Amino acid sequence: MMLVRSQPRQQTRRKTYTLYPVQELKHKVDTWAVKLRVNPKLVRVQEMRHKWGSCSSSGTITLARDLCEKDEAFQNYVIVHELLHLRYPTHGRMFKVLMNMHVPGWREQEHRRCNSMEYAAHPSRPKRKSPSEFTH
Ligand SMILES: [Zn+2]
Repeated sequence: MMLVRSQPRQQTRRKTYTLYPVQELKHKVDTWAVKLRVNPKLVRVQEMRHKWGSCSSSGTITLARDLCEKDEAFQNYVIVHELLHLRYPTHGRMFKVLMNMHVPGWREQEHRRCNSMEYAAHPSRPKRKSPSEFTH
């Protein structure tokens, strides 16, 4: 007779498994907010089909639930990107300077993000021209 026993799977994940992935993600946002000296009014983690994150003009940061399952480098990239939008609404020079400072190698992450089919960066945001952009 054979006794079928469910074998306890060894946890060989490189990341520590957490029971509270959403809380952990939000905690990361808090940590980054302090570092970047920004103050989001509200941080939400919810299902998002087309984006990894967004930042509203009222100061709400929304992150995709799926981000919990991504590696830390990518999480940091998305978190810092959205938090920086609280200070800089566009991807201007200062925005990129700060990205370089806090997330070295972010361009590689952006490449990953742009190549993932489900994501389009700020698809609904119309490109606005500020007067300074009209200098010839
Ligand atoms: Zn952006």
